[in-house]
Amino acid sequence: MSLSLEIAVRVGGSAVVFAMLALWEWFVPRRQLTVGRRPRWPGNLGILAIDMVTVRLLVPTATVGVALIAAARGWGLLNLVGAPLWAAIVTGMIALDLVVYTQHYVFHHVPLLWRLHRMHHADLDIDVTTGVRFHPFEILMSLAIKISAVVALGIPALAVLMFEVLLNSSSMFNHSNVALPPRLERMARWIVVTPQMHQVHHSIAREETDSNFGFNLPWWDRLFGTYRAEPAAGEQRMAVGLPIFRDVTESRILRLLTQPFRDDGGR
Ligand SMILES: [Zn+2]
Ligand SMILES: [Zn+2]
Repeated sequence: MSLSLEIAVRVGGSAVVFAMLALWEWFVPRRQLTVGRRPRWPGNLGILAIDMVTVRLLVPTATVGVALIAAARGWGLLNLVGAPLWAAIVTGMIALDLVVYTQHYVFHHVPLLWRLHRMHHADLDIDVTTGVRFHPFEILMSLAIKISAVVALGIPALAVLMFEVLLNSSSMFNHSNVALPPRLERMARWIVVTPQMHQVHHSIAREETDSNFGFNLPWWDRLFGTYRAEPAAGEQRMAVGLPIFRDVTESRILRLLTQPFRDDGGR
């Protein structure tokens, strides 16, 4: 698949998912927003635009390109053992999800990395745009981590492409301000990270911020003991954000970009 087609598939697919979730949370919101959309959306969407430009300018060979090179040269575990394509795709996608979980855990526990990641957590509300609000430096680091995993494991390009599309969509889904019907929510939590599960991760309470690290599969949190079913204050009353950066002006794009470099009494 050509690079421009790959990018078109990713951008087009994401735009459709974004629009559907935005409509859903507009008509049937799960929680009442504290500061609302107007102060936050320009900054959050501005960050998305910067991330897209940064990644495309500085890293011309995206993860899919690296996967193609690894396959051609026989690099990586799955290429070395000669795994059948379907097995390599399934294993590769699950492995990438574990890599993303681990990366997320590490970004919470290493102070320097937390400074980059906390911008995602400083959002005073959570909705579909929170799911694309990551500092460009964090995006670049996570790209480097994913590229290393793709090369080391020899993950097929198709698996990488499907995972990127899935991760994009699931990040928008599990941040959106929507709720599944209770019965469906209980069942869905065994196969996918739901918005109500990820909400706990955006609690202002530190022990709750440090739980539910998963983005696609909820298994890693259950397996490694970081799963938390609901916030202590209850889903509706839980305060969102961090103890720092609580002024609404912190939602402006320049403030978002400089948050990692400013000390505001962070942990
Ligand atoms: Zn986090
Ligand atoms: Zn989040």
